[in-house]
Amino acid sequence: MQLIIFGPPGVGKGTLSDMLSAKYKVPHISTGDIFRNEIKSGNSELIQYVEKGLLVPDLVVNKVVEKGLKQESCKNGFILDGYPRTIDQAEFLENVLWKLKKKVDIVLNLVASEEEIVGRLAARRNCGKCGALYNLVTIKPKKKDACDKCGNSLVQRKDDEPDTVKKRVQVYNQETAPLVDHYKKKKMLAEIDASKKPKEVFNAAVRIVERCIPKQQ
Ligand code: ADP
Repeated sequence: MQLIIFGPPGVGKGTLSDMLSAKYKVPHISTGDIFRNEIKSGNSELIQYVEKGLLVPDLVVNKVVEKGLKQESCKNGFILDGYPRTIDQAEFLENVLWKLKKKVDIVLNLVASEEEIVGRLAARRNCGKCGALYNLVTIKPKKKDACDKCGNSLVQRKDDEPDTVKKRVQVYNQETAPLVDHYKKKKMLAEIDASKKPKEVFNAAVRIVERCIPKQQ
């Protein structure tokens, strides 16, 4: 199973990808998570992009994704979250998968209003240690400011501050939204109403996935 989870910042790509990854036992590859981890381990080159809401250059992202897709763990599939984000990345991905004799089964396009996503980003928190995702309104932790899974403190991402959110939405509209037409033309796109609760979004995604993925997988 090869999936792309697509949509604007804050629409719920990470949450849905985690749920699908648990159900279908294929790795969740989030370029955003990879870059944040790189920054944590000292790669300061990336800060100028990630913390300002700008795109990391295609060359850098493409290399990271190619390496990820070649891992043994992706043998039975993968869920790409946050990639591709430009036409150049989409074309690069096609090429890498062609070499690996694979192809994307479906691109799930998560759709919600700008008002909804900006509100969600303000309430988004994640565990500073294990990365588990929360939302102070919709996916509340059991204990205030602590991770349900490992008990560590919850933090807000630097790029979820209001000015950076504005920039990210602008970058999405300019650079990433054109991919909707790109995948529509290829008849690879399926739309999901992401204004619903995570479980409902998940159920809608599973219905689409089960329809389009050959049974033997
Ligand atoms: P979101 O989708 O919520 O904006 P992500 O966690 O996917 O957040 O990405 C965070 C940041 O990481 C982006 O704003 C960008 O700087 C960088 N990034 C992630 N994926 C890509 C990509 N495919 N191309 C370029 N930059 C990326």
